[in-house]
Amino acid sequence: MIRGEKLYEGKAKIVYTTDDPDKLWVHFKDEATAFDGKKKGVIENKGYLNAQVSSKLFGVLSRNGVPTHFVRLETPRDMIVRKLEIIPVEVVVRNVVAGSMSKRLGIEEGRKLTQPVLEFYYKSDALGDPWVNESHVLALGWAQAAEVEAIRSMALTVNRVLSKHLGNVGILLVDFKLEFGRTSDGTILLGDEISPDTCRLWDVRSGEKLDKDRFRRDMGGVEDAYEEVLRRLS
Ligand code: ADP
Ligand code: UDP
Repeated sequence: MIRGEKLYEGKAKIVYTTDDPDKLWVHFKDEATAFDGKKKGVIENKGYLNAQVSSKLFGVLSRNGVPTHFVRLETPRDMIVRKLEIIPVEVVVRNVVAGSMSKRLGIEEGRKLTQPVLEFYYKSDALGDPWVNESHVLALGWAQAAEVEAIRSMALTVNRVLSKHLGNVGILLVDFKLEFGRTSDGTILLGDEISPDTCRLWDVRSGEKLDKDRFRRDMGGVEDAYEEVLRRLS
């Protein structure tokens, strides 16, 4: 496949056209940011590790009936995906209190939730991804009611499938962020990436963090943690 012009450079990936109008080429970068881009750094090998972990998890999901944009890995850190019109909403699913939920509600990190929590955030770097609810998504025309229902159901299925899959390799899926989009015929697919950048992953036995919180909180061992996730999934 031929890589075409650069369409968009984000904080973690670069998106290019290809010779197929329905497909995009996504390059995973080593650059890392946190706190709405205020903290910047490089995690050695991150692009490779996130492309590998994402492709494995997209594979698990499609084998379990969740339609995703993933087509194939073109190089170890370049992914071919179905082109989507991304819905500007970050969908967060939580099983355990952590991060912004802990801060916002004053509840200690690590408390298990009695059922999954689903949250929507408006995807806007300029505004710092503000929290919104389903009525905002509908009233602002970001998605139709049937699409929101499909997204909710897919997000909860992703949670069930990945919690089990990661649990089998000793990883607790604490929370994660998903993005969805529409193909040219309006089908909703899961897009973007699923990696230690976009999930909180804790070792079941030790509670050790195997995700981007090691970077956010200057804990060290970031690359080793991402490598450990890939090793367990391989
Ligand atoms: P950000 O935009 O938050 O800095 P990235 O650096 O990860 O994030 O950039 C990747 C961009 O590609 C994101 O804006 C994401 O919404 C978008 N994207 C992900 N998958 C697809 C897809 N299949 N089709 C079109 N755009 C996509
Ligand atoms: N997340 C993400 N991108 C974002 C915001 C959050 O991938 O722009 C992920 C984050 O890695 C975590 C989950 O979504 O797995 C919930 O994040 P939270 O709301 O707790 O925010 P944070 O503490 O990361 O700022």
